[in-house]
Amino acid sequence: MTRINKYIAHAGVASRRKAEELILSGRVTVNGEVMKNLSYQVESGDLVEVNGIAIYNEEPVYYLLNKPRGYISSVSDDKGRKTVLELLPQIKERIYPVGRLDWDTSGLLLMTNDGDFTNLMTHPSHGIEKVYVAKVEGQANKINLRPLALGLTIEGKKISPAHYEILKQEREKNHSIVSLTIHEGQNHQVKKMFAAVGLPVQKLSRVQYGPLTLDGVPSGKYRKLSKKEVSQLL
Ligand code: URA
Repeated sequence: MTRINKYIAHAGVASRRKAEELILSGRVTVNGEVMKNLSYQVESGDLVEVNGIAIYNEEPVYYLLNKPRGYISSVSDDKGRKTVLELLPQIKERIYPVGRLDWDTSGLLLMTNDGDFTNLMTHPSHGIEKVYVAKVEGQANKINLRPLALGLTIEGKKISPAHYEILKQEREKNHSIVSLTIHEGQNHQVKKMFAAVGLPVQKLSRVQYGPLTLDGVPSGKYRKLSKKEVSQLL
């Protein structure tokens, strides 16, 4: 038996709080009857529907994917682009990405069917550390990167100070490789940060997410997270 809001969250439909709103607004039925009782315990054999669509509960699962460039962080795409889901064809659970990496960004992306976990990971207050490696056009140095270390405002939004490291400077090719550690996750944040200091990103990869790295996971491959790894993220 599972409390109804938890059941809906685990099915990946919504967070527990959002599920409560769905229940109270009469959009959830159990065995064909509208269910507004938040403490209802779902039993095996119950048919739960949200907005008329049956949902099935599954054991929560968590995967770490090494996303190649050229895949969209979504479970479907109306423009027919390849989605990250195509990289995990054997997984039977209805998983989806935790947050997003741009189509042309590679690297570490978590995939799960756990709505509560996703909500927590992507909530601004959680502030999990993410490390990116960027190939940028131009010569990165302590002077032009300084605003990133001090914190800056982009499109009216404050961006916290970030740690950077210059990994390589290729003077003759006019590009540099820089790692950047951030705790937020606004849309295209890393690209915008480098653009703001006059160093447009040519290539971007996420190499770390909290304590997790891409070690042992080649591009396009994935692995399951252990229970311990999941609890370290929470
Ligand atoms: N920042 C970006 O600009 N792109 C990503 O994919 C992730 C972070």
